[in-house]
Amino acid sequence: MKLTSYWYDTAEPSGDYRRTPVPETADVAIVGGGLTGLSAAVELARHGAKVVVLEAETLGWGASGRNGGMATTGLAIGMGTAISRYGRERAVAMHLEYDRAISTIEDLVDEFAIDCDFERSGKLALACNQRDLDGLRAAQDEINRIAELPDVTVLDGADLGAEIASPFYVGGMVDPRGAGLHVGKFVHGLAGAAAQSGAYLCEKAGVASMTPHGAQTVLQTTRGSVRAAEVLIATSGYTGKLTPWLRRRVLPVGSFIVVTEPLGPELAAELLPTRRMASDSKMLTYYFRMTPDNRLLFGGRARFALSNPDSDLRSAKVLRKAMTTVFPALRSARIDYTWGGLVDITLDQMVHTGMTKGAHYSLGYSGHGVQMATHMGREMGLYLAGKSESYPWAGDKFPAVPGNLGSPWFLPIVGAGAHVVDGWNRLTGGRR
Ligand SMILES: Cc1cc2nc3c(=O)[nH]c(=O)nc-3n(C[C@H](O)[C@H](O)[C@H](O)COP(=O)(O)OP(=O)(O)OC[C@H]3O[C@@H](n4cnc5c(N)ncnc54)[C@H](O)[C@@H]3O)c2cc1C
Repeated sequence: MKLTSYWYDTAEPSGDYRRTPVPETADVAIVGGGLTGLSAAVELARHGAKVVVLEAETLGWGASGRNGGMATTGLAIGMGTAISRYGRERAVAMHLEYDRAISTIEDLVDEFAIDCDFERSGKLALACNQRDLDGLRAAQDEINRIAELPDVTVLDGADLGAEIASPFYVGGMVDPRGAGLHVGKFVHGLAGAAAQSGAYLCEKAGVASMTPHGAQTVLQTTRGSVRAAEVLIATSGYTGKLTPWLRRRVLPVGSFIVVTEPLGPELAAELLPTRRMASDSKMLTYYFRMTPDNRLLFGGRARFALSNPDSDLRSAKVLRKAMTTVFPALRSARIDYTWGGLVDITLDQMVHTGMTKGAHYSLGYSGHGVQMATHMGREMGLYLAGKSESYPWAGDKFPAVPGNLGSPWFLPIVGAGAHVVDGWNRLTGGRR
């Protein structure tokens, strides 16, 4: 079993950027080389700005190279909560922005001919009990009212069997707008597009400090400094000491994934005939999909721990057990890959943008960053290139997470509570 991301193991980098010189000056310096940073760099460079991406490790090393590759519709908090929190008009606009974000990926894939298996295979939201299925039915009406095409359907019984071969779920909701992609190939494709458009991509260039210099900022990196007119922080769940104000507002929550051996086309078609991007209604959600080469990718918050080889191996055991509960047919399937990464959860589970200490930021994708990071990178890039007057979500209140001073000591306690709730719901079928 490899302790590395399947996506990165099966994709070719567009180049080696570990020795790209850090330029002395830039119009925009971006801290973080994931989907947010790279997508912003593409936009800035093609509009003629001198832009440098400063990445402490390698491009896509953070969550962008470690996720499920699932670009799924809908807000992390769901429509009901969004309407009660923001009012109907704003909630609908937010929902549609998440939908539009998938089109942003599609546009980039087409425009730069990025070969990354992008496919609108659809999203499958699964209910573990009758109460959650009723919740999906309510959501279906709401989404069909606001979506451009009223094509979201709820399934149970034999209809569900046409979507998934699992005894674990009582029903599901299908939204055909969801998409899957090979996220390793996509990250490398974006990096190639940014480099071709003239962006400076600097790997192994961690930013240690940012100091105001007149109207500009000097960023000191591990291999040289750059003076920039504008700065974009794109550090997501890997936000650290450089930006303490942001660090208190983002919870870095570990999420883990296992990937099986290739299952062959017959078994893959039996388990997930429509190859949709699936996630379920548990508090500690399981999410899964087929990879382009017919392996099952199965993820979840297996343990409330950070990713390291020991932690990833322990999480793999938990996830393997969960996977065989959902798909008993995989009892003897070999696990070829396991890894983990950090998801950037905010208190309200919404995206946040704005400025702190002279630097713009975009983060808080709360598990929806495949499309939202790509989309927000583009929006931030357009703004910083002078092509738009503002960016979405700016000016929203961004509350700190109580007790989060950089190391979220309380996460294992929250995780244990969520395990208890999931166990209770399984016993009682979700009845209160
Ligand atoms: C296991 C897992 C599964 C997920 N599955 C999904 C999914 O299926 N669908 C979905 O929509 N979302 C998913 N996500 C979330 C999604 O991957 C992220 O929201 C998204 O990739 C964030 O992109 P980003 O560019 O903002 O940040 P990242 O990709 O995390 O990049 C941040 C980068 O900043 C760098 N950095 C930090 N500090 C510094 C510094 N001082 N100097 C220089 N560089 C620095 C880090 O090295 C890192 O590479 C998942 C996340 C994980 C971990």
